[in-house]
Amino acid sequence: MPRNPRYDILFEPVRIGPVTTRNRFYCTPHAIGTGQQMPHVRAAVREVRAEGGWGVVNTGYCSIHPSSDDAPLPYSRLWDDEDIRVHALMVDAVHKHGSLAGVELWHGGGGTGNRLSRRGLLSASGIADDITYPGWINLAQSRPMDKRDIADFRRWHVAAAKRARSAGFDIIYTYAGMNFGPYQFLLPWLNQRSDEYGGSLENRLRLTREILEEMKTAVGDTCAIALRFSTEDLLEVPGNTQETEAHEVVAMLSDLPDLWDVKSSSWTRETVSARFSEQGAQEPINSFVKGLTDRPVVGVGRFTSPDMMVSQVRRGILDLIGAARPSIADPFLPNKIDDGREDEIRECIGCNICVSGYHDGVPVRCTQNPTMGEEWRRQWHPERMPPGDSNSSVLVVGAGPAGLECARALGARGFAVTLAEARANLGGRVTIESALPGLATWARVRDYRSHLLQSMANVDIYLGNELSAEDIAAFDSEHIVIATGAHWSAAIPDDRGHATRHLETGNVFTPDDVLAGADISGPVVIYDFDHYYMGSCLAELLRERGLDVSIVTTAGAISAWTFMNNEMADIRHRMIEIGVQIVLESKLTGFSGHIASLESIYAGGPSQALECGSLVVVGKRRPNDALYQALCAAGLQNVRCIGDCRVPGAIVHAVYAGHECARTIDEPMGADLTEGIAWERPRLTTS
Ligand code: ADP
Ligand code: SF4
Repeated sequence: MPRNPRYDILFEPVRIGPVTTRNRFYCTPHAIGTGQQMPHVRAAVREVRAEGGWGVVNTGYCSIHPSSDDAPLPYSRLWDDEDIRVHALMVDAVHKHGSLAGVELWHGGGGTGNRLSRRGLLSASGIADDITYPGWINLAQSRPMDKRDIADFRRWHVAAAKRARSAGFDIIYTYAGMNFGPYQFLLPWLNQRSDEYGGSLENRLRLTREILEEMKTAVGDTCAIALRFSTEDLLEVPGNTQETEAHEVVAMLSDLPDLWDVKSSSWTRETVSARFSEQGAQEPINSFVKGLTDRPVVGVGRFTSPDMMVSQVRRGILDLIGAARPSIADPFLPNKIDDGREDEIRECIGCNICVSGYHDGVPVRCTQNPTMGEEWRRQWHPERMPPGDSNSSVLVVGAGPAGLECARALGARGFAVTLAEARANLGGRVTIESALPGLATWARVRDYRSHLLQSMANVDIYLGNELSAEDIAAFDSEHIVIATGAHWSAAIPDDRGHATRHLETGNVFTPDDVLAGADISGPVVIYDFDHYYMGSCLAELLRERGLDVSIVTTAGAISAWTFMNNEMADIRHRMIEIGVQIVLESKLTGFSGHIASLESIYAGGPSQALECGSLVVVGKRRPNDALYQALCAAGLQNVRCIGDCRVPGAIVHAVYAGHECARTIDEPMGADLTEGIAWERPRLTTS
């Protein structure tokens, strides 16, 4: 289909210093969990974006020197000439598709850990940032940089820029944001120097200016020099010549960088989930920049709507549409708009599972895009599937995320697919859970797939069809895939912490009960040892109904796992805002029907009694695998079980399982699916 002319503006080339990007789609620097250890995975993850039409594709943060080491988090590095080769792999892959490759040179200053290199941390004035997240506490403080350190710091930037050019990069960043390196000099509360690098804004900006000038002199004839700048903090500081110091920074440097990449001030603010922010939420902190520079400006905003992108350009907010998450969820987003297939965009749902991959130190994974991170390891392409046998029939039972993705991918492979669903609608758990406060975007997991399925002539969908083992056997399909999901259990942990104990009293509910409309009376105690979103989402739902709600959890923080996907602080804040009482590090020892008895998880800790009209247990989920077991018992050999029905997990696991099943359905039953997966191997430097 031809492109909608309304979107032509997104495909205009944009000049960035000495280079030109073919369009306005710009993959901003973002970590993908591969670090320096997985160059092939990294190159493939970046390449697929270039293939999908992103005009510029950047690396994640790339350390310029061992004095900036973020271990154990996976970061890239350009410390010496040996490191050039692994970057060249990515650059060549990106260039192959006509895109520009950018590198985000980074020095963390006092905002990193140096746990691997064991170098002392450097910062403007030796002032530690207020780090409140347990995982990020660093025992070593930083020391104020002296003049020699500053000279070294500038020299390291130039040396790394030269290496970046040797690797073939077209755009080279310096990073004055998010409490890293030069940014610490910009902020008056972190910079208390009395020399020419402290005091006035001109002085605080000196280091950033020097680095930019020196990088431009060194490599600026062939490479664009970009500045990544967090505007948010200095927007709070009144300026002398402009409204705020953020305005003054842009006005003072104005056309010195070839590109302004502007953003918020912390990793958690930058990656706010859809539960807590709308598409385009960064506009208030970015919109002033273009008025103060003639250089192109890029910013992010979880943009998945082409109309929203056009509006950003037309209203003079951004020149380039920056994306991390939207490009992870759909590497082919630009090409789909270009082909007039914008209704096929696999829209990011803003769940931040991708963020958790980085914290886990593993290649990026995505709820919407199961191929993300598997391009090299498993040779999975997000848009192309190996053709299957169109005479071969597959019955998929259950249309939750696992069944939907399996049926979609099987349909794309050409199999004759029947999808049967007991309920009157598609989506399984995502349909139910997307009705929870803040989770509306999660329905995109269903909508993307149901839209494509409905256009496939080789897929039949039967809603309102609860199949029995006899129905399935009589269907006589060559392959059977059971994706019947899981249910929440009301069992609570025994003394050893295993959720096997059932309470005898009434008024005990599971999330399934609450979501099915059970009559819940207050005050409500939510006993949460699931540690993800469900406990706090139910608390919001029940508060909306005017009930008093407490969350009791065994963990030391509310929704403890959400430290990994950057939602924890927002959840905690929301609970305070809506008046949910939070009881941490406590276990439920009994429930009388009116009183919930609690004890500290630590021996000898305090006990408590909470008035409780309804107890909601948010704990473990159990597979709905009776159908699968019955089919196995009946001797059927061609049955596979996937998703929550196999192993309960998050939606990302179910989608992945559905996709994997569709890709491998022509493998013999019981085949070892780990065979044929490529693993990166360390190269021994001694023989
Ligand atoms: P997953 O996350 O693994 O996809 P879900 O719980 O989201 O699991 O989806 C499972 C789906 O399977 C639900 O929509 C449920 O209605 C459906 N289902 C369960 N049992 C049957 C059955 N016997 N026949 C057809 N559909 C079923
Ligand atoms: Fe978007 Fe979630 Fe995928 Fe991240 S994991 S890109 S937030 S859909």
